[in-house]
Amino acid sequence: MSYDCIVIGGGAAGIMAACTAGNQGKSVLILEVNETVGKKILATGNGRCNFTNDYMGIECFRTDTDFQKMESVLNRFTKDDTLSFFEEIGIYGKIRFGTGYYPLSMQASQVRDALVLALKKRQISIVYNFKCIKIEKTDFGYRAISTDGKKYSGKTCIVTTGGYASPKTGSDGALYYYLKKNGIKTADVVPALVPLKCTETFFKSLQGVRWEANVSVSHNNNVISNQGELQFTKEGISGIPVFQISRFIAKDLLTQKKCTVQIDLYPDFSKEVLKEQFEKRFYDEGWYKTSHEALIGIMNDKLIDVLLELSGIDKTESASSISESQLKSLLRLCKNFSVTVCGTKGFEFAQTTAGGIDLTAVSDDLESLDHEGLYFAGEILDVDGICGGYNLQWAWASGYVAGLAASFERE
Ligand SMILES: Cc1cc2nc3c(=O)[nH]c(=O)nc-3n(C[C@H](O)[C@H](O)[C@H](O)COP(=O)(O)OP(=O)(O)OC[C@H]3O[C@@H](n4cnc5c(N)ncnc54)[C@H](O)[C@@H]3O)c2cc1C
Repeated sequence: MSYDCIVIGGGAAGIMAACTAGNQGKSVLILEVNETVGKKILATGNGRCNFTNDYMGIECFRTDTDFQKMESVLNRFTKDDTLSFFEEIGIYGKIRFGTGYYPLSMQASQVRDALVLALKKRQISIVYNFKCIKIEKTDFGYRAISTDGKKYSGKTCIVTTGGYASPKTGSDGALYYYLKKNGIKTADVVPALVPLKCTETFFKSLQGVRWEANVSVSHNNNVISNQGELQFTKEGISGIPVFQISRFIAKDLLTQKKCTVQIDLYPDFSKEVLKEQFEKRFYDEGWYKTSHEALIGIMNDKLIDVLLELSGIDKTESASSISESQLKSLLRLCKNFSVTVCGTKGFEFAQTTAGGIDLTAVSDDLESLDHEGLYFAGEILDVDGICGGYNLQWAWASGYVAGLAASFERE
């Protein structure tokens, strides 16, 4: 049987594309490698699904290929459209943790279940355990072929197989690689929203420390920074502020072995205020304390020991006996702690993929410029968002735009 539209990949973007084409009265078939659709949705937002955000500044989205095209897609399906869609399918959104929207139940499984019901309502067909390895052009449209030789055809085809991030949820990048090999223009892919590995040996001692900090990196002569709860791991750094800047570092690491990240451990203290604090603690009140004790109440214990050692201060020596240059060095470390990044934790630990199908290779409707009737949506395209519901917003918006345009093909 041939369908009006085949959607390869039943993740967030594929489900939205299928629902949109279904709303236009099209016969739609989703081809999904897993035994269920929306597996990755279950893992989103720590099982709570941060499905969009009240704040939609364009700076929350990134692409290295065509910024205007990305913006135009996002403008055609806004966060209000996302909220209306979810309300229509029964998911009431509530703002939590700042400006992120979550389902009222705080259960990602309910978001996935409601999307499955939305597919059912629109009578969208689904074939599970179908790993697409090839897409062929036919006289009437496209044919998707699986590892075991099964074939399904549609007048149009929307590819929504995701990127490489979190391969255990089904998106292993294999189809993306196939498309790239077959001439579809792509931008280099790297893991994004991902923990970073560093070279310094002190990370073993800092493991487990969580500390509000500002992290920054220089990328293409711009300083990219983010403030939030930094997490030290035994291998390096993690946490939201690290995730937010990680895609730039991952891109730089394609051409260089190492990258320096600057950490301001006291973003809410000016250098002068911090200096006053330290002088009071070490010189006025330090006569009955060790250097370690002088910092109690203003620094995490594990950080105290590492920073004192790096400043050449013995943690057991009398606080008042430290020299001005040692204090200066401690201050410098607090405001400008440099760490050397040598890699990311990889796609297995990444929440999304930076890079993908080049936006200059598709039309404003996300149709391939070289292959009429072939569309792309979601993470497979060269767009990634920061943490906060922006990657799902891209999946909904691009799924909608591709699904709608595919419905008006080949009447
Ligand atoms: C742990 C984690 C937490 C996250 N939390 C959030 C969050 O709270 N908010 C947010 O906005 N974003 C979050 N993200 C990112 C977000 O989930 C993704 O950006 C989004 O799901 C991408 O949607 P997609 O449909 O493009 O791709 P995917 O969701 O990856 O879907 C692709 C689908 O295609 C299928 N597939 C792949 N290859 C084939 C093939 N060859 N043949 C057939 N089917 C195939 C896959 O099984 C999958 O079902 C998170 C990601 C992770 C990993």
